[in-house]
Amino acid sequence: MFVSENLNINEKGNLTINGADTTVLAQKYGTPLYVMDEDMIRNNCRTYIKSIEKYYDGRGMVCFASKAFSCKEIYRIMQQENIGIDVVSAGEIYTAYKAGFDMSKAVFHGNNKSAEEVNMALDTGVGRIVADNIYEIEMLDRIAGERKISIPVLLRIKPGVDAHTHSFISTGQIDSKFGFALETGEAFEAVKKVLSCNNLEFRGLHCHIGSSILDTRGFVAAAEIMMTLISKIKDELNYEVKELNLGGGFGIRYVQSDDPLPYDEYMNAVAEVVNKYCAENNINRPFIIIEPGRSIVGSAGITLYTVGGRKTIPDIRTYISVDGGMCDNPRYILYQAEYDAIVANKASEPKSERVTIAGRCCETGDMIGENMPLQHCEPGDIIAVCATGAYNYSMSSNYNRLCKPAVVFVNSGSDRLAVRRQTLDDIISNDI
Ligand SMILES: *Cc1c(COP(=O)(O)O)cnc(C)c1O
Repeated sequence: MFVSENLNINEKGNLTINGADTTVLAQKYGTPLYVMDEDMIRNNCRTYIKSIEKYYDGRGMVCFASKAFSCKEIYRIMQQENIGIDVVSAGEIYTAYKAGFDMSKAVFHGNNKSAEEVNMALDTGVGRIVADNIYEIEMLDRIAGERKISIPVLLRIKPGVDAHTHSFISTGQIDSKFGFALETGEAFEAVKKVLSCNNLEFRGLHCHIGSSILDTRGFVAAAEIMMTLISKIKDELNYEVKELNLGGGFGIRYVQSDDPLPYDEYMNAVAEVVNKYCAENNINRPFIIIEPGRSIVGSAGITLYTVGGRKTIPDIRTYISVDGGMCDNPRYILYQAEYDAIVANKASEPKSERVTIAGRCCETGDMIGENMPLQHCEPGDIIAVCATGAYNYSMSSNYNRLCKPAVVFVNSGSDRLAVRRQTLDDIISNDI
């Protein structure tokens, strides 16, 4: 009935998330409000860890791609769940470090890391750095030399796999800003380059083929291609690659028609390829890293809004305005992402109309969705938008000088604040 299994209806007919009444949360913390189901996040972490134990003898690590949802509390939870993290900026590194995260389990990504960020990563003890281009390899070697250390480096490879998703969120093909291309020989040259650097420890290879992928074919193809490169490196450079980071990208259910696989199917599929390839080619099995982001937090989150005005344009559509929009959820305006919505205080009523949920920002395209089935709602009702746990809070902005919403975590029915709502003074805090 609901797109996420943590949603339900209580005896009052109100929508609940992990047992907590969403209308009570809206009342207590105000709207717009992000609500995250902590138990579901922890269960997702455990599913991924167990999949490595089950299919790959535990010889791997799960890293949460923290760009999907980053705040101190999520890094504390990842630390408790014994999960690594993937970070891409000084801001993410700083947040995790300040949360007390063990940074040796952090992987530093990105296609344009500054020297300051690399130094910060090394100061805080980041365990692995993934180099994206030749300039970065040279910079890492230079910084390691200055610091008289050796930096563990992985190389980001474009395996040339089309992940069959929207072109803005597929990254494994040759025309991508991320990584070294295989087809042109660039990737192999980069491996040679790292091996020739005095201050770099070549750990292995990384690829990430895209996002919101709902089957395993792309991952299987990428794993095969990466194993072929590992084999070529062994044969021609006499070097055995120790680590293979296969990225993230597992999709979730946003609307009923999405049909995601159980999360452990990811590791099941790639482990089969790697195990078989290593056995047949007499290669030591690499340590495997996987980097799920969306699938750890996406279905765990919802956003609550208060309904404002209704505007019916005869024979065209009905607009329902809410007190948030592209500033807290830019995914519709970015790539027409689809969502499911429920009137939280009328959750047991049938969805009797189709509406456009409009945000309050000054952009015509600022919508949560068009043609969305919804219960009939009036000003003051609470709308819950489902599966907003990934890439909503982390992509939020202060456009129109709107304050970013608070984030609340719900754990077995009890709620606590994880991120305070921004205040108007926060909005002007950097203005001179
Ligand atoms: C974004 C990203 C991920 C996570 O992608 P999801 O779709 O959120 O699972 C993993 N690795 C890298 C390098 C990424 O850029």
